[in-house]
Parts: sequence; C-alpha cells; structure tokens
Amino acid sequence: MAGYDRVRHGGAAIQAVETAIRILEASGLFNAGVGSRIQLDGIKRMDAAIMEGHGLRAGAVAAIERVRHPITAARLVMEKTAHVLLVGPPATRFARHFNVELQSRSHRAARTRTATWGKRDLLTKKTLALFKAMRRQEQSNLETVGAVALDEQGTLAAGASTGGVAFMLPGRVGDTPLIGCGVYADNKAGAVSMTGVGEGIIRIGIAKEIADRLAAGVAPAVAVRLVLSKLVSRINGSAGALVLHPNGRLSIRHTTLRMAAGYWRGSGTPFVADDFRS
Ligand code: ASP
Repeated sequence: MAGYDRVRHGGAAIQAVETAIRILEASGLFNAGVGSRIQLDGIKRMDAAIMEGHGLRAGAVAAIERVRHPITAARLVMEKTAHVLLVGPPATRFARHFNVELQSRSHRAARTRTATWGKRDLLTKKTLALFKAMRRQEQSNLETVGAVALDEQGTLAAGASTGGVAFMLPGRVGDTPLIGCGVYADNKAGAVSMTGVGEGIIRIGIAKEIADRLAAGVAPAVAVRLVLSKLVSRINGSAGALVLHPNGRLSIRHTTLRMAAGYWRGSGTPFVADDFRS
C-alpha cells in the first residue's frame, strides 16, 4: 500500500518499487535486508536489483554487506553511476559513501559469532552452531522480496532483494542482481520480478524471456506459465514470478510450494495470498 501511495500521488513506478521493498527489507520477516540468510562463513551478503522500463535504466548490487536496504544501494548504482552492477566490499563502500542506513549490531551479529570458514577444524562448536542457525532459517521459510509497479506516465518498474539461498558457499550470487534473470522492466513488454532457486533462473534467463514473450503479444498469465514450465521441464528448476503488463494486468505464479504475494488497486482491501498456482 505504501508503494501504491507513491504512484497515486504522482510518484514514479521506480519509487513505488523501492518504497515497497524497503518496508519488506526492514521487517525481518523475509529473506532480505535485516532478515537475510547467512552464507557458510556466517556472513550476510545480500543482492538486489531495480530497473525502470522507460529508458531501460537499471542498477544492482551483489554480495553487499551490512546495509539495511540493498534495494536503495541498487537504486544509487542506477542513479549515480554509469554502471549497472557493483559487487562485494566495494559495493558496500559505495553505499556507505552515500550514508545509507546500516543494519543494527544485533542483525549483523551472525558475522562475528559464526565466521569460521577457512579455519582448519571445520567441526568446531562454532561451525555446528552456524549449521543449526542455518537450519532454523530454512525452517522459517523466509522468502526473497520483490515488487513491480506501473505509474501514471505509463512507466513500469521492477525490483527484488534477497539474502540468497540456504547453505550457500561464500561468494555465491543468485539471479536477483542479474538484470534479465531476476528482474526486468521494459515499457514495451512488461515488468518482471522473480523469486526461487537462482541457479535455475539464471540458466534460463527467466525475467527477460517472460518480457520477450509479453513483447510478442502473449498474455502475462500465459507467458509466465510457459516460461516456468520450461524451467521445470528442462532443468527441474523452481521459481515464482510477479509479472505486470503495460496495460496494468498482473500475473503471479510459482512452481514453489508457496509464494506470499499481494496487490492493491487503490481501493478496498489489498489482496494477499500465499498460493497462486491455479
Ligand atoms: N532467487 C534468490 C537467489 O537465488 C533466492 C530466493 O528467491 O529465495 O538468491
């Protein structure tokens, strides 16, 4: 609703997407921002991307640490640089240069408490504690966050932010910060934001493939169904998609067991559910 309020008051779709994702990143209820998963060395490295469909401008960060809102760091890459993607400690330094908010000490604590990767004895108490912490995260079913929006000027935007998948090697990067894989927006096609196992999403290049089908005139629900079927049949992948057509039609679909998502058209009660498979 906060995102919708932005466009309702004449704001840009990109602003709506960033606003919505910032709320989810700060909630701690999802696998993004403060709620991000940790990698096998106990460090949270987060990925995010944002794109707008008028000028096809995009920004992304991968393996960024400590910041509270990776989506804002991604938007800064888009707005303040001539680049699309910054990674690792330089991405963190870039974000800090713009004084972005950092996560509180308690949210960052996993870093020092459990950082054991590279030590000789991998079966230390610390390592076992790390595995227990990761298993707990797994059971809590935290999900990546994403948003798509269309503004009054007819510009589309898409974004996503994640802490990655469970039991990741340090340095692993998924689909989320890769434009055309986890995120894509083109006013002449549609806006797409993905969740799911990034390795499969990358190999199919899903966000761009869905957008290409929309551009060819395929309806959003059909495009997303065809591409997700391809993901499953070709490489046994697993994903969910938010897809918004330039005409405002929205499609949400997933092959994962559940996918919490919602939308609001500006009046009445917002629609929220966790099963969009039928
Ligand atoms: N797609 C994200 C990744 O692979 C994870 C997720 O969506 O849950 O990093």
